[in-house]
Amino acid sequence: MRVILLGAPGAGKGTQGKKIQEKTGIAVLVMGNILREAVRSNDKIGVEVSQYITKGELVPDQLVTSLIVTRLQQKDCQDKGFLLDGFPRTSEQAKSLDKEMAARKIKLDHVLYYVIPDEIAISRIIGRRICSNCDTVYHLQNNPPAKENICDVCGSKLSQREDDNPEVISKRLATYYAKTTPLLQYYEKQKLLRQIPANRPIDLIFQETLKVLGVR
Ligand code: AMP
Repeated sequence: MRVILLGAPGAGKGTQGKKIQEKTGIAVLVMGNILREAVRSNDKIGVEVSQYITKGELVPDQLVTSLIVTRLQQKDCQDKGFLLDGFPRTSEQAKSLDKEMAARKIKLDHVLYYVIPDEIAISRIIGRRICSNCDTVYHLQNNPPAKENICDVCGSKLSQREDDNPEVISKRLATYYAKTTPLLQYYEKQKLLRQIPANRPIDLIFQETLKVLGVR
């Protein structure tokens, strides 16, 4: 199965992606995590990437595309397929992905679009906490860890993402509307797009997600 998750920042793509991974064993590629890992490594690419992320701007297409294409060549993506969260985010990226898949004679099965009002997305991002070690995502009200500020999975400290502050969030949303929403039409035309209302409890969204994916 090959799946793309679309939706504004804060729509819950990461949460659903993780649950899909647990249920199906599919490889989940989270572009933001790949980029944040590059930033943590502090190498040349990491330093460049960090300048975009902290401003809420998109990292150049060529760079993110080459990172994803390299990752897609790994065995886990070829065994059970893959789920992409945060890629593509521009028409250029979508076209590059189509080219890459055509070259390998593989096709996308589903593009899920999680729909959420801006004000809910913003409040979700403001309350979001992330594990500094394993990137597990929590929310102070909707999905808190068992022990305050400690990751349930690995016991490391939780922190707030540097770009989860009001100023950068509004920039990220503006970028989403300008650069990413054209993809809705792009995948609608390919008859792959399925909308899922995402302003609901996590498990209800997940049930609908599984139904759309045809997973039991
Ligand atoms: P996210 O964790 O998905 O909210 O992404 C965090 C940041 O990483 C974004 O605000 C961008 O700066 C960068 N980023 C993530 N995915 C992409 C992408 N496909 N293209 C360009 N930049 C990206």
